[in-house]
Amino acid sequence: MSRLPAIPPRDPAAAERWVAEHLGHLALEGAEGIRRSPAFRGGQSAADAAIEELDVRGYAGTRNEVWPVDRRGATRLSPYIRHGLLTLQDVWGRAEAAPARDRGKFRDELLWQEYARHVYARLGTASAVPLRHEAPPVPSTDGDPWPREMACVDLCRVELRRDGWLVNQTRMWMASQWALRSGAPWQDGEDAFFRHLLDGSRAANRLGWQWTVGTATGRPYGFSRWQVEKRAPGLCASCALRDRCPVERFPDLPKGADVAPPEVLRRDPDPAATGGPELVVREGEPDAVWLTAESLGSSDPALAARPELPVVFVLDEDRLRGWRLSGKRLVFLAETLAEIGEHRELEVHLGSPRRVLAGRRLAATWTPVPGWRRLADRLSVVEAHPWPWLTRPHGRSARSFSAWRKALPADRARGA
Ligand SMILES: Cc1cc2nc3c(=O)[nH]c(=O)nc-3n(C[C@H](O)[C@H](O)[C@H](O)COP(=O)(O)OP(=O)(O)OC[C@H]3O[C@@H](n4cnc5c(N)ncnc54)[C@H](O)[C@@H]3O)c2cc1C
Repeated sequence: MSRLPAIPPRDPAAAERWVAEHLGHLALEGAEGIRRSPAFRGGQSAADAAIEELDVRGYAGTRNEVWPVDRRGATRLSPYIRHGLLTLQDVWGRAEAAPARDRGKFRDELLWQEYARHVYARLGTASAVPLRHEAPPVPSTDGDPWPREMACVDLCRVELRRDGWLVNQTRMWMASQWALRSGAPWQDGEDAFFRHLLDGSRAANRLGWQWTVGTATGRPYGFSRWQVEKRAPGLCASCALRDRCPVERFPDLPKGADVAPPEVLRRDPDPAATGGPELVVREGEPDAVWLTAESLGSSDPALAARPELPVVFVLDEDRLRGWRLSGKRLVFLAETLAEIGEHRELEVHLGSPRRVLAGRRLAATWTPVPGWRRLADRLSVVEAHPWPWLTRPHGRSARSFSAWRKALPADRARGA
């Protein structure tokens, strides 16, 4: 029997216990080590509260600040955006009244998220290999790729493991330290991020790593003491290695060999297929709404269109076993599902989605990730709702963010 008992709502400790009991054997830390993130709560009401408080005044000047924590200007919306609790369209609109510089910078970042989704929708699993250049051939130090004696690295390591979140600046530090200082394979570092980040997505995480290590652009991001002193003033003073800093100078990075980018990155011959349906496609009467981790918000188009139907969510046991996600990611998901269960009849299953959903007639939101598309092809999705793109995929070049952006409609490309 794959159906799991209901998740108790509005009780973080109960959500932790539920995860430990039912998913503990699949989690990175095992059942005993399941802890929620002290920094984020899952669920639509937490997402709504975060967007209510959104204030991007000053964002352009403070987004990259790292430490002390009260200097940070990052919005921390990413776990909610990643799971569809907030759509990029909603968040874009909320910045309307901000000063032009902050609004422009903030919307640039939302466009980066959309760009990552477009690239992933075009390439699918091919986004796991270097896009335009090999990573610089850095010899391995054979030690821990994130050495704990470095105060800057340790700060990030603790945040990643405890909270499941890092500011963009320190994601670059950690990716650069991993691959370009320690010489460890970048794909392993990407997996390490994916296991912990509450916003971990193959789309944005892969692009972030490819961008940082230079495989997307040929210009690797070199991590050095200079960035730490600028973005975390005072942190180096507490470091055991302050007088023999291993990242004292910018690294002299050899350029990685060119690789031929996938042709579909230059031109997508079928952007309509990449972007999915523009209107609802109805081939029958559904008996349930199928949700996935990509789209768990109350505004999910299929969920909102079918208030009378039960909702079904399947935790893919094989995938979870392979990924070994950290318990805090699973608790975030459980809290989100618990809240859906307060308003809708909800079935949560653990097993094979293909088997659990076989024979059911589903309403679902078409989703631009390869796993969803593969699965949906084998299921009976009788009602497919359009994905809420910020801007629909075009077929022109996506080889770089700037090339991709040039082909957007003027109101999106401008941002401000
Ligand atoms: C190595 C690396 C790995 C990353 N992995 C992920 C990931 O798994 N999931 C993820 O959502 N983002 C990822 N990012 C992008 C970015 O770091 C996070 O989106 C951002 O730090 C989230 O914090 P925030 O919500 O406070 O962002 P803000 O700066 O407040 O930005 C607002 C929103 O814009 C989007 N955004 C901001 N910067 C980027 C960016 N560089 N790329 C794509 N979207 C962006 C996010 O949706 C974010 O919530 C990664 C970046 C790097 C360098």
